[in-house]
Amino acid sequence: AAKEAGRGTFRFFDPAMNERAQKRLHLEETLRRALSGNEFELFYQPKICLIDSRYCGMEALIRWRDPELGIVSPADFIPLAEETGLIEPIGNWVLETACAQMRRWADAGRIAGPVAVNVSAKQLNNPDFAAELEAILKRHRLEASCLQLEVTESTVMTDPEMAIEALSKLAALGVTIAIDDFGTGYSSFSYLKRLPIHLLKVDRSFVTDIGISREDDEIVTAIIQVALALKLMVVAEGVETARQAAFLNGLGCHFAQGYLYARPLPVKEFEDLLGA
Ligand code: C2E
Ligand code: MG
Ligand code: MG
Ligand code: MG
Repeated sequence: AAKEAGRGTFRFFDPAMNERAQKRLHLEETLRRALSGNEFELFYQPKICLIDSRYCGMEALIRWRDPELGIVSPADFIPLAEETGLIEPIGNWVLETACAQMRRWADAGRIAGPVAVNVSAKQLNNPDFAAELEAILKRHRLEASCLQLEVTESTVMTDPEMAIEALSKLAALGVTIAIDDFGTGYSSFSYLKRLPIHLLKVDRSFVTDIGISREDDEIVTAIIQVALALKLMVVAEGVETARQAAFLNGLGCHFAQGYLYARPLPVKEFEDLLGA
C-alpha cells in the first residue's frame, strides 16, 4: 500500500504531465495576448454556384499570425479556445471583423456576400448571443441576409432541443443557418426536420474520395438526397477536382467550396481574385 501511495504521490509530480499543463497554460496566455494584440486575421474562401461556376458568397476562416510561429491554423487553437472559454471573445471578434469587412466592401460597391461565419457551441448556448449578433449587424448597417452562420452537426446534436431554441432566435433575425461537417455527427431525422436551418454542408471527408470509393459516392448521394428531401440547399466542402464538381452537380448539389476554385485567402488576395 505504501508503495502504491508512493507511486501515486510520484504521479502527482509526473514531469511529463506538469510539462503538458505548463504548455497549455502558456498557449492559453499566448491566445489571450493574440486577441488583445490583434494577431488574428480572417481569410476568405469563395463559394461557387455549381450550375454556372459563378461566385456566390464566401466563408470567413480565422488565422493566427503569431510573431514567432507564423500563421497558425484554427485546428491548432480553436479546441483550446473552446475549452478555456476564450472562444467567446474570439468568436465575437470574428463576427465583428467579418461584418466590418462586409460594410467596407458594400461601401466600395464590390464583393457581395453573404459571408459565412463559424459559430461554436459556447457561443450558440449563450442566451445573449442573438441580441449581440443583432447589435453587431445594426452597428455595421447590414441586412441579416448578408450573414450566414455555420454550426457543426455535432454541436447541434449534443443538445438538439437547446440548439433548436437557440437557432430559432437567430433564424428569426433573418440570418441563414448552415449545418457544417454534415455526415460526421449523429443526426436524427426527426431533429433535422425541426431545425430552422437553410443549408447542409457535406463534410470534406466524403467529397475527397468521390470517384475513388464507391461507398463514398453512395454516401454523398444519400446526403444530398436527404438535404433535397428536407428542402435544404447543399454545399460541398473540400472540392478539389473537376470530376468531384461534376459528380456533385449531377446530384443536384447547389454550391461548392474548395481548392479547385480557391484556397482561403487574405483580404487583398481575395479582392484580387474576384477582380472587383
Ligand atoms: P470548416 O468550417 O469545416 O472549414 C473548412 C476547412 O476546410 C477550412 O480549414 C478550409 O481551409 C479547408 N478547406 C477548404 N477547401 C478545401 C479543399 O479543397 N481541400 C482541403 N484539403 N481543405 C479545404 P481551416 O481554415 O483550417 O479551418 C478548420 C476548421 O476550424 C473549420 O472547419 C472550422 O471548424 C474551424 N474554424 C475556422 N475559423 C473559425 C472561426 O472563426 N470560429 C470557429 N469557432 N471555428 C473556426
Ligand atoms: Mg465552416
Ligand atoms: Mg465544414
Ligand atoms: Mg469540415
